[in-house]
Amino acid sequence: MPDSATMSKNGMVTKIHTRIRTDPFTANYDLVGKELGRGKFAVVKKCIEKATGKQYAAKFLRKRRKGADCRMDILNEIAVLEAAKANPYVVALHEVYETHTEIILVLECAAGGEIFNQCVADNDEAFTEKDVIRLAKQILTGVAFLHRNNVVHLDLKPQNILLTSARPLGDIRIVDFGLSRRMDNITEVREILGTPEYVAPEILNYEPISTATDMWSIGVLIYVMLTGESPFLGDEKQQTFLNISQVNVDYSQDTFEGISSLAIDFIKSLLLKNPRKRATAEECLNHPWLNPLPHPHSHPHLHTRSAASLDEPETSQSESEPESPA
Ligand code: ADP
Ligand code: MG
Repeated sequence: MPDSATMSKNGMVTKIHTRIRTDPFTANYDLVGKELGRGKFAVVKKCIEKATGKQYAAKFLRKRRKGADCRMDILNEIAVLEAAKANPYVVALHEVYETHTEIILVLECAAGGEIFNQCVADNDEAFTEKDVIRLAKQILTGVAFLHRNNVVHLDLKPQNILLTSARPLGDIRIVDFGLSRRMDNITEVREILGTPEYVAPEILNYEPISTATDMWSIGVLIYVMLTGESPFLGDEKQQTFLNISQVNVDYSQDTFEGISSLAIDFIKSLLLKNPRKRATAEECLNHPWLNPLPHPHSHPHLHTRSAASLDEPETSQSESEPESPA
């Protein structure tokens, strides 16, 4: 985070360091292929930088939404991407362009698409538990980095976790910081409701949000990645909200067929109504589900591992080094 960050009352940071270009985007990039995705106010398209031939994802954000000027929200999104640029699991921001109506974020292209696709896929395409363990470590490493920097994402869901490649299964990239906030000074939560299925009980009750709010969403996310089912989704929005506030979760053998009990234990440490009781990202990274015990004789001093090495989980990851940006 920039030291001199300008903060508005609801935790937004709007001071950015990236130069906003006003020369035409199309002078420097060719749009190629079809849309990569879209959300409520954004369209994302694949493009090629003319000077380098490199592929990127251009996110076109409308500045006016429902008659309101949302330029500050977009600057906040840019500021968070800047703050997280040292972390390989957060999508990299390459350039920013502005026109009369839009701001265009030129992002690293995560060519494997949303993990959502594999969450709802048939058996042969769906994630194995081993896949989920590797991807969960990466998601948690990225989120732990954000949380150490006092940033909460507030919209973690399978549509906002992308892959560098789908087959073979690549590494994750966290995207969409449109709802993200600095933790220092959030007063207003009413306006930043995420997606119903993934929001924590405290959001529904207008109680304070914290880094634990993201941890609830990660619990839902891992549940969906392992089972293909959304734990709280009801037929109606009201039923979904009731399921969330009652923490009405199905942990039956049937739903978790072939999945380890450590995985269930992991999810249970996150889907707790009281935010203070939920595991933190750092605690999750140390959970036995993500750290299968080595053979008893190979690492006799494992329990004496220093706190410093726990601080930097990336150094202990050998099989999940991210690829360099495409
Ligand atoms: P919104 O704020 O409108 O939800 P997102 O940033 O989530 O916008 O982008 C919408 C969709 O576009 C994503 O769910 C994803 O499918 C696709 N997308 C976004 N960023 C990238 C990227 N860097 N590489 C590839 N696809 C992307
Ligand atoms: Mg999104």
